[in-house]
Amino acid sequence: MHVSAAEEGVVSAPVVVVGGGVAGLAAAWRLRARGQDVVLLERSSRLGGLVESERLGGQTADAQGWVLEHGPDGLLASKPGMREVLERLGMQSELVTGGEGKRVAYVARSEREALRLDPIPTSLFRFERRAIVELLRSPLLSWSAKLRLFAEPFVRHSARADTVAHFVVRRFGRELAERVFEPMMRGVYGASIAELGLHETMPKLADLERRYGSVGVALLLAPRAPAGPGLVSFRGGMQTLVERLAAEVAPSVRLGVEVESIQPARPGAPTTLYTSEGPVAAREIVLACPAREARRLLAPLDPALGDELAGIRSTDVSVVSLGYARDDVMHALDGTGFVVDPALGRSLVACTWSSRKWSGRAPDDGVLLRCVVNRGESTPELVQTASEEVHRFLGITAKPRLVRARRRTGALPVYAPGHRERVAEARTRARRFGVELAGNAYDGVGVPDCLSSGIGAAERVRAA
Ligand SMILES: Cc1cc2nc3c(=O)[nH]c(=O)nc-3n(C[C@H](O)[C@H](O)[C@H](O)COP(=O)(O)OP(=O)(O)OC[C@H]3O[C@@H](n4cnc5c(N)ncnc54)[C@H](O)[C@@H]3O)c2cc1C
Repeated sequence: MHVSAAEEGVVSAPVVVVGGGVAGLAAAWRLRARGQDVVLLERSSRLGGLVESERLGGQTADAQGWVLEHGPDGLLASKPGMREVLERLGMQSELVTGGEGKRVAYVARSEREALRLDPIPTSLFRFERRAIVELLRSPLLSWSAKLRLFAEPFVRHSARADTVAHFVVRRFGRELAERVFEPMMRGVYGASIAELGLHETMPKLADLERRYGSVGVALLLAPRAPAGPGLVSFRGGMQTLVERLAAEVAPSVRLGVEVESIQPARPGAPTTLYTSEGPVAAREIVLACPAREARRLLAPLDPALGDELAGIRSTDVSVVSLGYARDDVMHALDGTGFVVDPALGRSLVACTWSSRKWSGRAPDDGVLLRCVVNRGESTPELVQTASEEVHRFLGITAKPRLVRARRRTGALPVYAPGHRERVAEARTRARRFGVELAGNAYDGVGVPDCLSSGIGAAERVRAA
């Protein structure tokens, strides 16, 4: 541990990283690579934060067990910097790119009182040339909504700070917004497109409008989709990434240490972090904890900074894993899962068919489902909600063999219009106290975004 006694009762560490999620781990990894003395303080007894895989059974080579994902179940390898991170960590051989299910996800919705699963036109979200054809063929849209697509090139450009909802309704009409964007974006961000900022969550759409005057025309001119994996995971689940990072930074890590408050320094003097294990003096701090926690720690130093951070709302997410005997599941599960149209008013937000989406997630005679639900507090309540919904949507009546549930309070930040300006202001203010902000509240919610956020914060830390 690179901690040395400074003055009585106070240990000192040149750089302290607060939070051992992927952002904090990436920050510590980068700082160590730069030859910095760094200590990572994590309040829980494990590293990874929201990333948490649970492996059950399958200890022998010929017996596959269960791999449950209580947090993220994949990451976009095509995101900037991700390839380099995976290469540097030597994780290329650990990657898995998919399972036996078709690479199709669905929207569950109701038509004439009947529940149906219709494919999501995902090429639209990858900005691929075939997006327009896919939309014209999609059963999700009525004929009038399809005709409305042809009017898009004539819609006037707007420079206002849009929400995703406002932008999509303005350019493409209400039906595309409600039937495609709303369920899809809610499944990813846990928030409505009426709240999500366009520039914050889909900057490419705004960029295409600005450059081409029409998103539709820009899509038709788009190059063919690049080859190579999009969404990937790891053979042993997402925790494998945490384990690799943890191995890189092990000497710096202190688990079970909570930062309770931060005392600002006199100019030129180290800042003191008061922790559950005593004070630590630090020259620089990377706060890689959720925004509400950053706010709690920083508001006493600068109320205006506290206000900026308080403006980043976050939503709760509950994940329920259900493992079934294969014989108990009659549904073909021919795809990767589905998101639920919020207009149905159900408690199920999304259901991933994990054992179809990825290989090696369940024994040969098992089926693993991962449900995101928005009703229930306790584990039994969450499991009951998920089981009832799985019965309704997939017709599964059998009792699951295996159940797990995690309720994550304030897990997903909502990127509202103006978020980027808010973050820029918060960062400028935090820097005056030698604090860098990293994590899912600032630079994107995906795991690759959080890794980049941690690495970026580490690079902004002044060299000793
Ligand atoms: C259900 C779910 C599914 C998701 N699915 C995907 C997906 O498929 N793909 C994808 O790319 N992303 C996904 N995400 C998003 C992604 O997982 C998260 O945004 C990312 O893991 C957040 O990492 P982080 O390091 O910023 O924060 P966290 O993981 O929240 O880590 C913060 C850490 O700080 C610690 N901490 C907090 N306060 C203190 C303190 N005072 N002192 C010390 N330590 C403290 C916490 O204990 C925690 O370990 C998903 C998220 C959820 C919740």
